[in-house]
Amino acid sequence: MNKTPRKQKKKSLLYSYLSKGFILFIVYVLTALLGLKVDAVSGFATLIWLPTGISLATLLLFGIRLWPAIFLGAVLANAWSGAALPVAVGIGIGNTLEALFAAVILRYLFGFDNSLERITDVIGLIVIGAFLSTMISATIGVVSLSYGGIVNSQTLPSTWVSWWIGDMVSNLVIAPLILVWAKIFRYLEFEKKKRVELVTAFSLLLITGFFVFGDTFGIKYSNVPITYLVFPPLIWIALRFGQVETVTGIFILSALALWTTVFGSSPFTQGKLSERLIQVQTFMAVVAATSMILSASLSERRKYEKFKDDLIAIVSHELKTPLTSIKLLTQLLAHHFRKKREIKSIRYLKKMDKQLNKFTRIINDLLDVSRLRNKKFGISKKYFILSKLIKETVESMKLVSKHTFIIKSKQNSLKVFADKDRIEQVLINLLSNAIKYSPQGKKILVQVEKKKNVVVMSVSDEGIGISPYYYEKLFHPFFRIINPVVTNRTGFGIGLYISNEIVKQHGGKMWFVSKPDQGSTFYFSLPLS
Ligand code: ADP
Repeated sequence: MNKTPRKQKKKSLLYSYLSKGFILFIVYVLTALLGLKVDAVSGFATLIWLPTGISLATLLLFGIRLWPAIFLGAVLANAWSGAALPVAVGIGIGNTLEALFAAVILRYLFGFDNSLERITDVIGLIVIGAFLSTMISATIGVVSLSYGGIVNSQTLPSTWVSWWIGDMVSNLVIAPLILVWAKIFRYLEFEKKKRVELVTAFSLLLITGFFVFGDTFGIKYSNVPITYLVFPPLIWIALRFGQVETVTGIFILSALALWTTVFGSSPFTQGKLSERLIQVQTFMAVVAATSMILSASLSERRKYEKFKDDLIAIVSHELKTPLTSIKLLTQLLAHHFRKKREIKSIRYLKKMDKQLNKFTRIINDLLDVSRLRNKKFGISKKYFILSKLIKETVESMKLVSKHTFIIKSKQNSLKVFADKDRIEQVLINLLSNAIKYSPQGKKILVQVEKKKNVVVMSVSDEGIGISPYYYEKLFHPFFRIINPVVTNRTGFGIGLYISNEIVKQHGGKMWFVSKPDQGSTFYFSLPLS
């Protein structure tokens, strides 16, 4: 019963293997013939050699077993271009070993990931793929040519270098391009805004490319060293997009650089074509390696940030439901014990409820952080009397602190149009900090002042103060100052971040004035219109 489906599966696997192999073989031969036409050193060592990159990418994408297609393609292309059969076979062995060596090491030792979004993968590709594996092909190829009498001891070094550089750039430009574009469907996920930015960045890249390498604007720039101008648009692409876009940008520039160097308009004009190609390919190798590493390091960072945001969102969300149930059950239990007059149990439950409130505040803060990071933080405004809210908030803080609270305000009936709960949250955060970071019994002053069309509120304390060194960072999420004087270290550095964001969403501003050991005053403004 099982035999037929298994046989069919084997057949379709064989078919898939043969068709992929055939396509690789054809593409290899065509691109190799094209490369051999461009001023090959000693007739065979060409600086523009697409097949190396194509081979490596194909083995990484579709499996190492496709190597015979590389061998056959290389033998045919070289024999076609005039190499004796043993020489062509020698070159074929070199080219196959080059791809196999790189693919096996990258796949099995590096655990290579084709998307090139990790620094290890890019380094692996640069060191193993571009730098080392290509030496195998260059060495075996040049030895084969020397056996065939095509190179002599004088031409051997330059032939080897051309061969090596041609293959190296191919593995740095063509292989990554194929690897990342294999994930082309990723493009469907692009938001519209990013698409506009992508088109703009690539247009700038093209304009810069033509400006640097061509005599596009009727001016010949050959003698002006402006090649470094290609970096800004490439860095833009690497910073804002992923490895797919970066590698594509490198490819476009590389193609432009090669084309204009072959036809004489690029800045690389010294010497004969093969020498000019060495210059341009070396330049492109540096551009490619730098941009890919930059892009990979940013991708890693973005992944880490996303992981952190996802973790915060999931944890806070998942904890919220059981926490609500526990709170409800505590209230039921309290009711039960009150009926039975079990004083001790009621006291324990009160303590438990206090801790649960703390827990709820932490979870709510984390949920706010997650909403802010995912741009889902909304505010709902209504009119309310500001002084009333301040008075109520200060009264509730008096219950949990031994500080002296003073409110100074002439704006007793001032109405503001804002999110009442969120403004209360800002006040609570500032007051809690004033309590936390100043000794018990000290004064905490809350002031309200109307200035033109804004109202400015402030909370001043007589506490430990803040060194100017930290001014920039204080509103960053999870930032805390380590101060040995502070023993009550509850919180984890998100209160000011959330408060600042709330004020910003209202169109207001938050700032502070402080000196170490001389207390701090935190201000925030709200527009009145
Ligand atoms: P948390 O208080 O939970 O650490 P915040 O975001 O509210 O988080 O504050 C960030 C840091 O700013 C605190 O860790 C503290 O070092 C400093 N800070 C905030 N308010 C004050 C204050 N009134 N006086 C001194 N330091 C303060």
